[in-house]
Amino acid sequence: MSATNAATRYDALIIGAGHAGAQAAISLRQVGFAGTIGLIGDEPVAPYERPALSKEYLAGDKSFDQLLIRPDEFWTENSVELVSGERAVGVDPSAKTVTFESGAIVGYGSLVWATGGVPRRIPVPGGDLEGVLAIRSKADCDRLIEALPSIRNVVVIGGGFIGLESAAVLRARGATVTVVEALDRVLARVTAEPVSRFFENEHRAHGVELLLGVGIDSIEGDDASVTGVRLSDGRVLPADRVIVGIGIVPAIEPLIAAGAEVTPHATGVLIDELCRTSLADVYCVGDCSVLRNGPGMRIESRQNAHELATTAAKAITGITDPLVLVPWFWSHQYDLRLQTIGLNVGYDQTVLRGTPEERSFSLIYLKEGEVIALDCINATKDYVQGRRLVERRARVEPNVLADTDTALKDIAAAH
Ligand SMILES: Cc1cc2nc3c(=O)[nH]c(=O)nc-3n(C[C@H](O)[C@H](O)[C@H](O)COP(=O)(O)OP(=O)(O)OC[C@H]3O[C@@H](n4cnc5c(N)ncnc54)[C@H](O)[C@@H]3O)c2cc1C
Repeated sequence: MSATNAATRYDALIIGAGHAGAQAAISLRQVGFAGTIGLIGDEPVAPYERPALSKEYLAGDKSFDQLLIRPDEFWTENSVELVSGERAVGVDPSAKTVTFESGAIVGYGSLVWATGGVPRRIPVPGGDLEGVLAIRSKADCDRLIEALPSIRNVVVIGGGFIGLESAAVLRARGATVTVVEALDRVLARVTAEPVSRFFENEHRAHGVELLLGVGIDSIEGDDASVTGVRLSDGRVLPADRVIVGIGIVPAIEPLIAAGAEVTPHATGVLIDELCRTSLADVYCVGDCSVLRNGPGMRIESRQNAHELATTAAKAITGITDPLVLVPWFWSHQYDLRLQTIGLNVGYDQTVLRGTPEERSFSLIYLKEGEVIALDCINATKDYVQGRRLVERRARVEPNVLADTDTALKDIAAAH
């Protein structure tokens, strides 16, 4: 279906058919929204589980059908008009219309902007050569999977979650993998040093070469395809493919042009606790939004997309249920399952619970004596039981938290 087939107006028009967009449509029906719903996205496929791209899908352990957020018939059965392959390019908040690249103009009662972001490109010569890839969409991932049989050397630029997950899968699939990280440790923006060092050791033990504190000068190629990566120290790494995992740029230009209030550096559209933007009847959810009275950053996780979408759907239906942020996240690398609860922003102390050498431990983050977050590695019990400590911002002595003989649920009960 194309936007030319779409209705000329929807009571709820959702732009972006990823996690947040799909969930907004699902939640609208769940809370009894009876109006028409249009869910319009620019990818050519139905909404799918993006986190699996750098994990089970790249590994070949799951087919695309297994990634679908809902089976195809769900959308028709629930009277959600799903339109794929159409890109929104403009919003007119006074006429309450959205313009698409195809020229179609669609009106709305409420608009939910759920466009996520596009991968940040690496700003060096050769950054746009054939073979320099991101992993954000099915199409990105398919390009890499298709090339796998002929790939020997892969350079991953960026030691964040997506870079490290891809490195683990590609290593398991037999590639020679080098991860280049500009900072002096991996996962530096999201975890504290003990967790970074643990993952570095694991990757090295699996044969991944990690180069830390090194910049990229250029990406080299012949004719059109990549052949190597020139580092800031002069070394050149051979590469058949380069994966760039250095974050996203939010896809919010049409909302900015429409006058929506954004963060100072346009890192996201500002929303309130009901996911409302500064424009009347325009909501923004998922990776492209920033909570006005929150931690001041985008929270890029499936759970955040889900929660915001649900909150917006309720608000559209007249149910006021303000957002309460207790973010959680997970990552799989090799046989390691990292689960995090809370946000560690502004932590001033960490407590190690368990021993990294045993490959099962938690790092607990405190701020002014209160528990604000946990990173749990192969420690699901801590992750589940630690949630209450985070929700209550419990004040617990570090030596009590570190004592693995006492379950976190018992510590939570006593505080
Ligand atoms: C490889 C990878 C691994 C991840 N792993 C994890 C994980 O382990 N755990 C976790 O919690 N999170 C993970 N995430 C993050 C998680 O997938 C995102 O936080 C989540 O998908 C955000 O949902 P969203 O709807 O805001 O954005 P998206 O899911 O990106 O959806 C946005 C959609 O809008 C479309 N779009 C953009 N602009 C327009 C436009 N102008 N018009 C129409 N459509 C448009 C996009 O193409 C896309 O389809 C991962 C992400 C990636 C890429």
